[in-house]
Amino acid sequence: MTVSDGTTQAAPHLDQIAAKLAAGTRLDREDGLYLLTSAPLPDLGKLAQDVRVRKTPAGEVTFVIDSNPNYTNVCVTDCAFCAFYRKPGQDGGYTLSVEQVMEKVGNASRDGATTVLLQGGHNPDIPFDYYLELVRECRRLYPDVTPHFFTASEVHMMAEVSGLTTRGVLEKLYEAGQRTLPGGGAEVLSDRVRKKVAAKKGGVDTWMQVHREAHELGIKSTATMMYGHIETEDDIVEHWEHIRTLQDEHQGFTAFVPWSYKRGNTPMEKYVEESGRKPAGAAQYLRILAASRLFLDNFSHIQASWFSEGKKTGQIALHYGADDFGGTLFEENVHLATGHDNRTTVDETKLLIQEAGFVPVQRTTSYERLRRFE
Ligand code: SF4
Repeated sequence: MTVSDGTTQAAPHLDQIAAKLAAGTRLDREDGLYLLTSAPLPDLGKLAQDVRVRKTPAGEVTFVIDSNPNYTNVCVTDCAFCAFYRKPGQDGGYTLSVEQVMEKVGNASRDGATTVLLQGGHNPDIPFDYYLELVRECRRLYPDVTPHFFTASEVHMMAEVSGLTTRGVLEKLYEAGQRTLPGGGAEVLSDRVRKKVAAKKGGVDTWMQVHREAHELGIKSTATMMYGHIETEDDIVEHWEHIRTLQDEHQGFTAFVPWSYKRGNTPMEKYVEESGRKPAGAAQYLRILAASRLFLDNFSHIQASWFSEGKKTGQIALHYGADDFGGTLFEENVHLATGHDNRTTVDETKLLIQEAGFVPVQRTTSYERLRRFE
């Protein structure tokens, strides 16, 4: 660790963590808390980057061409962090037909997208067949596009409307052609937190169960985390422990994707402001990203988010343990509803990666390499 007079000073706990990593010893809860609260950030970033270059091609950064449309914003779940949804019957609510969604998938495909991440509110008036039809039609009309559809809580909604188990729902989605599931809806995997920010979404087990079942069926998924609201460092370490344990079982997660809560227009905006908590900034993001690279020893890919954290922070994150720059997100409405807007193009994505010192490599949803841009 470099101190202000230019001399160096040991950061004993970080040295111990480095030694543990070199010996292949898994980090424990105390290590995780130290990384999140006290480890010197530049040294933490360097250690994370050392691990990243050992696990993934050192000079390359991957990205995916994708779009994130929505099929409905009607929702009965009332998450406290959500500015996107409308209650049933409320002005501004919409539910698209299968044809309308396919039009969006077609537009994304024509722009070069190989992934469409489709998600929506929990609308109990939508029959289960609608979801299956979305997957089948995407596969039939746009075979080059991976239907990266429906988060765990939407799978629970489908189970409710169909009378199937969540495993039964996933089996039907698999038969229809689905092979990957987005990791949204995890928020922070701590029952304490989920009870406050997403009470109707169920506890940790509800998210974990769907991802475990998906992995057992051969459906890959991502693990996300939305922090910066009411969680503590302890909750974040608990989140990591849950997903690391599940990853040990099936290696079903392709990547870990953290992003910060955007409070604008959300039901808990006032509550969070009055609590005195500042909006999560770049330093916290880089710390979480780098620490997750060290703690999640069984994850290959850690995703940087140019979208939620800003392009410059996204570029810096590529030196703090991230090996992937996420997607181009041609369409995005959930963050937009909070007033957070950020756009890019495929050319700019490549340029941002190059400026950061890496060769851009286009990938699929499942992290297979498609094209390297020298
Ligand atoms: S985050 Fe999803 S489930 Fe929660 S209120 Fe918004 S649309 Fe509904």
